Amino acid sequence: MRRALPLLTTAALLAALTACTPAPEPADAPTSPSASTARTTSTPTTAPSPTASASPTRSVATSAAPSASMSSSEDTPSTRSPSPTVAPSSTAPTTVAPTAAGPSLAPLHRDPDSLQVLVNKHHPVPANWRAPDLVSAGVVGNRQGMLLRRPAAQALQGMVAAARADRIELILVSAHRTHDYQAGLYSNSIQRNGLAHADRYSARPGHSEHHTGLAADLAAADGTCTLQGCFADTPEGRWIAQHAVEHGFVIRYPQGSEPITGYGAEPWHLRYLGVEQGQAVMEAGGIVETAWGADPAPDYLP
Ligand SMILES: [Zn+2]
Repeated sequence: MRRALPLLTTAALLAALTACTPAPEPADAPTSPSASTARTTSTPTTAPSPTASASPTRSVATSAAPSASMSSSEDTPSTRSPSPTVAPSSTAPTTVAPTAAGPSLAPLHRDPDSLQVLVNKHHPVPANWRAPDLVSAGVVGNRQGMLLRRPAAQALQGMVAAARADRIELILVSAHRTHDYQAGLYSNSIQRNGLAHADRYSARPGHSEHHTGLAADLAAADGTCTLQGCFADTPEGRWIAQHAVEHGFVIRYPQGSEPITGYGAEPWHLRYLGVEQGQAVMEAGGIVETAWGADPAPDYLP
């Protein structure tokens, strides 16, 4: 059924994106706006009993999970329920969990300017922070003007060229997003589907990696399975899975990582880390949080 899909025209792609992005990048929690920015910089204050609901086992990365799932996707709304079926952790944190930022999380993973910054449902980027060195992504996209941080853009250009040499045509469908843009998307999602749904299937503004300018959503040039789980089974998706790390990118939400990352599998969402860091993450199992010693972040903190 893969190639049976018609080529997507630009308009169709835009329409698809419109349908997808709104849910994804939400804005500040309308109801609890302070929640997302308050704990950015530093130290955790009270431990919001994080371990209670978020204690996935170590084996989630390889455990079976609903395939092609779009659930809880950062980029695409979904009608499927995440419902991670993770057994209670047997490696439960000893005492009171420190906080959003585990004690072992290195400073370079807390610094928004760092190419190795951690951004997830526990670690937002400050609302007034702006990604430095944003430049044109420099690759074919479904619209004009998409930006990435310079190192990520250069790496992406190299990766797209390498793919083309293998007769794989990739296009960029989403790159940097501003806080305000995400806020708008989030508001729209709430209006259309309600707050609970928006929070379940969207990243609040500040909590999206796209804010960093280090994340890129890629698609097959022919439009097959754009922003859908089935992208993983396309030649383009398989190429990315095999070669992205050679160019410093990792698939940020790999299959089975939802209990840790908080998002269903997104075989199209790449995060730039640099070749060395990317390889280190892959060697550690492919999940950024786990590789960096961060707490699992399946949900927003209270
Ligand atoms: Zn994305």
